[in-house]
Amino acid sequence: MSAPSSPIASQLEELRAQLRHHEHQYYVLDNPVITDAEYDVMMRSLQKLEAEHPELITPDSPTQRVGGKPREGFVKAPHSSAMLSLENALDEEELRAFDNRVRELLNGAEYRYAVELKMDGLSLATRYTGGVLQQAITRGDGSIGEEVTENARTIRSLPLRVGADRIFEARGEVILGRRAFERLNVERDAQQLPRFANPRNAAAGSLRMLETAVTASRRLDYYAYFLLDEAGAPIFDSHWESLDWLAAQGFLVNNKRRICANVDEVLDFCRQYDAERDNLPYEIDGVVIKIDSIPQQRQLGYTAKAPRWAIAFKYAARQAETLVEDILVQVGRTGALTPVACLAPQVVSGVTVSRATLHNEDEIARLGLQIGDRVLVERSGDVIPKVVRVTQEGEPQVRRPFVMPTECPVCSGRVVREEGEAASRCINVNCPARLKESIRHFASRSVMAIDGLGDVLIEQLVEAGLVRSVSDIYQLTQEQVAALERMGPKSASNLIENIAASRNMPLPRVLGALGIRFVGERTAELLADEFGHMDRIATATVEELQTAQEVGPKVAESIANFFREPHNADLLDRLRAAGLKFDHVVKKKEGGPLKGLNFVLTGTLPTLSRDEAKKLIEDAGGKVVGSVSSKTSFVVAGEEAGSKLEKAKTLGIALLDEAGLLEKLKTENS
Ligand SMILES: [Zn+2]
Repeated sequence: MSAPSSPIASQLEELRAQLRHHEHQYYVLDNPVITDAEYDVMMRSLQKLEAEHPELITPDSPTQRVGGKPREGFVKAPHSSAMLSLENALDEEELRAFDNRVRELLNGAEYRYAVELKMDGLSLATRYTGGVLQQAITRGDGSIGEEVTENARTIRSLPLRVGADRIFEARGEVILGRRAFERLNVERDAQQLPRFANPRNAAAGSLRMLETAVTASRRLDYYAYFLLDEAGAPIFDSHWESLDWLAAQGFLVNNKRRICANVDEVLDFCRQYDAERDNLPYEIDGVVIKIDSIPQQRQLGYTAKAPRWAIAFKYAARQAETLVEDILVQVGRTGALTPVACLAPQVVSGVTVSRATLHNEDEIARLGLQIGDRVLVERSGDVIPKVVRVTQEGEPQVRRPFVMPTECPVCSGRVVREEGEAASRCINVNCPARLKESIRHFASRSVMAIDGLGDVLIEQLVEAGLVRSVSDIYQLTQEQVAALERMGPKSASNLIENIAASRNMPLPRVLGALGIRFVGERTAELLADEFGHMDRIATATVEELQTAQEVGPKVAESIANFFREPHNADLLDRLRAAGLKFDHVVKKKEGGPLKGLNFVLTGTLPTLSRDEAKKLIEDAGGKVVGSVSSKTSFVVAGEEAGSKLEKAKTLGIALLDEAGLLEKLKTENS
C-alpha cells in the first residue's frame, strides 16, 4: 500500500490501526484492553473524519463493518481450487482403516496428523491482496460459490487488514456461537418471527442476508483453518505451520487442535472432545484429521471426490426420528405455558428421550407439527431436547392439531396471551406453579418491601403448606414461623413485624405487588392517581383504564384480564380483609392553566420532543393520555400523525399543532 499522502490521511490510518488492534484483542484474542465506551469513541471519531473526507474511505476501514444498502442478489464467483468435502469416518474402525491406507501409500515413511475440531457452520474462502480483504466467497458447489464480501466484512473476528503483503486465500468456517444463537432466537420470539432450528442454519441465513446491516447484527464468527496462495496451492510445507501463520496474521484459529503421532492419539482427541462438546461455546459435529506434511499430502493425492490425506471423524448424530404421541403443557414459575411434545421413547446418542420442548405456539406453527406426526428430535447439551422438523405427517384419522388451553392445567386459572408476546400465561397469582415467584415479587423491595421474606423462607412456607395464597402471609403467626428450620424466635418475630408493617404500603405499591403484566411502579402510580381506589381500577373497562396517563390498549387489556380472573378477584378480597390499603389520596396538581384538560400527543412535533411537550402540559396542570376518546380535550398532532389523528377527526376532537399548543399555554397563562 502506498504511504498516506496528507496529514488527514495519516490521521485516518492511525485511527484505523488502533481500532483494528482493539478489534483483534476483543474478537480474536478475547482479551479487550479498552472499554466498549472507549472503543465507541474511537469509532465515532473515525466515522466523523471519514464523513468529512469520503474520498479517503478504504474498504479495509473498520467503519465498513456496519453494512450499507441492501443488494439485489449475490454474484457467482469461481474458487481458485475446489473446496472439496472430506470423506467421513463414522467410528473407530473406519478411522483405523483410513490410517492403514495412509501408511500403505506412504510406504512406511514417518507421518503425523494435524487434528482440529470440526465446527458446525458454513465454509467461506477469503482472499487478501496487499494485506487487505478483497473478496469472500461461500463454498457453493465447491467450484463456484457466491461472493458475500460486504457481509463477511461485518464479521468482527475476520481481519479486514493483515500484516502480510502477499496474495493469499484463507478458508474457514463462519459460525454462530451458542449464546449468540440463543439470543437471536429470543429476539425472534419477541418479534414473533420463526426460530432458527440450529446455529448452522442461522449462520448460513445470516451470511446471505441481502441487507448487510442485518448480518452485522448477528454476531457471527470466522475461524480460519486452511491457507492457499493465489493459484490455490499450499504456501508452507506443513499444515500446522499455516495455521500458526494465520493466527499470527490476526485470524481466529481454533486453539483446540493437536499434533498426533499416531491414530491412537487421534482417537484420544476425538473421545476427549466428544465428552466435552456440550461445554464448548460453539457447536461441533466431529474432528478433522489431516496429514500434516504438505509434501506427503501431495504424495497421497486425491480421489475423484475427496483428498486421500484427510478425513472427518463424525460424532454420533444427536438426532433421531420418533413419534409425537401427545403435546402437553408445562407451567413455568412465571406462569408461562410451554408446550412439550411427548415422544415415543427413542435413544438419541446414548440417552433415552421421551420429551422435547416446543417453546411456544408460534414454534409449533412454524414446524407445521400436529399430534401423531413423526419428527426429528435433537439433543444438545444438558437442555431438554427439541423438535427439529416434521419428517412424516400422521394418518388423517389420528392426526390432530395442538390447541393452547384457555385454562391453566395446574390451577384452571385463565390463560392469556398478551399482545406482542410469544408466551401464553396463567394469570392466577396464586397458581401453585407460580406461587413462590408471586410471593417473591410481592415481598420484593420495589413493592411491599417485606424484609426477611427471602427465597429460602418462601420455599419453606409453601412446602410446609403454611402459605397457599399470597394473602396467607398475613395470617402467619410468630409460632408457625419460629417452628421452621433455621428460624429462631427473634427472626420469626421480626418477620411478623415486617409483614404487619407492609399493611401501610400505599395503593400504588399494593397494585404493583400483584404482578400484573406491563404494570410497573410508574404505571401503578398513574393508575392510583387516576382512579383513587383499587376497586375502581379492578372494575374499570378497557376503555376507562385508558383515560389514565400512559395507559394504552395493550396495558389496559392486561389489567382488565387480570381482574376478570376469578382467583385474582378472590385474592383481592383476601388482601382487603388482611387490611391492605385499597384507597389512595390523589395528589392533585395545584390549579394550572390547563387544569382539567386531557391531551393526546401524536406524530412528530417540529421543535418539541414528545417528553418536552408532555412536561409543558403537565406543568400547566393538564393531563397527557395515551389514546383518543370522547374525554379527550385536544389532540396535538405533528408530522406523520397516524390513527390517533384519524380517530380525533371522527370524534370531532379539537386539533392543535405545536404553535397552537404553545399559544394555548400562553393565553391560558395570562
Ligand atoms: Zn395456573
